[in-house]
Amino acid sequence: MMLPTHALAGAALAVPLAALAPEAAPLVLAAGLLGGVLPDMDLYVGHRRTLHFPVYYSTAAVVAVPAALVVGTTASVALAALLIGAAAHCVADVFGGGLELRPWEATADRAVYDHFNGRWIAPRRWIRYDGAPEDLLLSTTLAAGLWGVAGGELRIVVAGALAIAAAYTVVRRVLPSVVEVIVPALPTPVVTSLPARYRTSLRADAAADSETGRATRDGR
Ligand SMILES: [Zn+2]
Repeated sequence: MMLPTHALAGAALAVPLAALAPEAAPLVLAAGLLGGVLPDMDLYVGHRRTLHFPVYYSTAAVVAVPAALVVGTTASVALAALLIGAAAHCVADVFGGGLELRPWEATADRAVYDHFNGRWIAPRRWIRYDGAPEDLLLSTTLAAGLWGVAGGELRIVVAGALAIAAAYTVVRRVLPSVVEVIVPALPTPVVTSLPARYRTSLRADAAADSETGRATRDGR
């Protein structure tokens, strides 16, 4: 699922918790949204592994929610919202696409890494890929639900997230082709700073090209 969907889901899941600290409801919703975004901060370093902890975030959330009910401080409620958002993100990634450059081709067998069991979980593809029409539908549904409970500032964030989701959905299928045209022209330091899926794809293409060239030279 795309990042706006994760962000909106984190905020939506924080709505019931916000009732525990009504005076700090915007902060709690923001914590949920932040939790929904947080795991994808590993986009450039071991994506879906470095900051994705489907078991550990979930376990922490199971502890943090009752603790917030008992303690009831703004900090405890915000922490619970953050952990629920992060846990939901990592579990939701299992039901999206894989890590390949074109996830709609459904060739990858890695969705998210399970540190507890030391293995990659395979993608279920209920939402076929990030930026799929059904992903945008989910974003829109979450945004519509949040719109009714959000205050002015959060409404701006919700509208912004939905706008990004819509734009990303429009360009998603052409993005890999654009990247493949642009990336070879970029300086090496820039290329090495790109997410692994782009670099891996280009290396694979280069290997295929050199193999084709060898076969041509060898008369194969
Ligand atoms: Zn993720």
